[in-house]
Amino acid sequence: MRITVLGKSPAWQDAGGACSGYLVEADGCCLLLDCGNGVFAKLRAQRDLTQVQAVVISHLHADHFFDLVPYAYALTYSHAARAAGSRPLLYVPPGGRETLRRITGAWDAEELIEHAFDLHEYDSAQEVDLDPLRVGFHEVPHFIRTHAVRLRDVAGGGTFTYGADCRPNDEIVAFARDSDLLLLEATLEQPEEAGCRGHLTPTEAGEHARRAGAGRLVLTHFSGDHDQAQARGEAERAFGGPVELAREGATYTV
Ligand SMILES: [Zn+2]
Ligand SMILES: [Zn+2]
Repeated sequence: MRITVLGKSPAWQDAGGACSGYLVEADGCCLLLDCGNGVFAKLRAQRDLTQVQAVVISHLHADHFFDLVPYAYALTYSHAARAAGSRPLLYVPPGGRETLRRITGAWDAEELIEHAFDLHEYDSAQEVDLDPLRVGFHEVPHFIRTHAVRLRDVAGGGTFTYGADCRPNDEIVAFARDSDLLLLEATLEQPEEAGCRGHLTPTEAGEHARRAGAGRLVLTHFSGDHDQAQARGEAERAFGGPVELAREGATYTV
């Protein structure tokens, strides 16, 4: 299984960057995990649109799904996509269909996304089989309903878990148990001081990955404005081993 970072920015992009988006490929299966603002152009720079079989969205914050809009327009109007009859599978959280209708309904295009994609609302009790990838979901605490996503390559072996956005929690530790690669957000330089927490610091990401027994930890969803060396050092001290910082275009093989 090969993971390519298309976008790693938090809710605002770095210069030339993109919000959350990761391409996951294994033996003929090509899947896009999250499709935040800026991701569609990054996807087009890497692959032909018609190669993507499925899109999985962790939660419906703008930085994780906004580029479904230009993606849907491309599937609807581009000659290449129409000629290929492309209609990728789209997996969204429970209630996602109605949320997407409300958003595109703002310009009277309620069914834009569900016409362009074969839309399904996933259920954390069931895995999705995208041969050879098996996709599992587990709810994690964030500001809105959010799911971590685990991908297992049932043919080649290897497990990759994406923690989505979350505050410190035990759920992701159990769900990511013994993953070969764990991709965790490290949005904050310091924990939120007031109100409900929603994100992790590099230290917290490192602690969660150590508790999960992850083989390899990659931090993501952080701003390029942050001190990268400090973030890596904090995460490595907590994880007890080397930690990588996601950068756009980087690939990881599991
Ligand atoms: Zn979020
Ligand atoms: Zn986010």
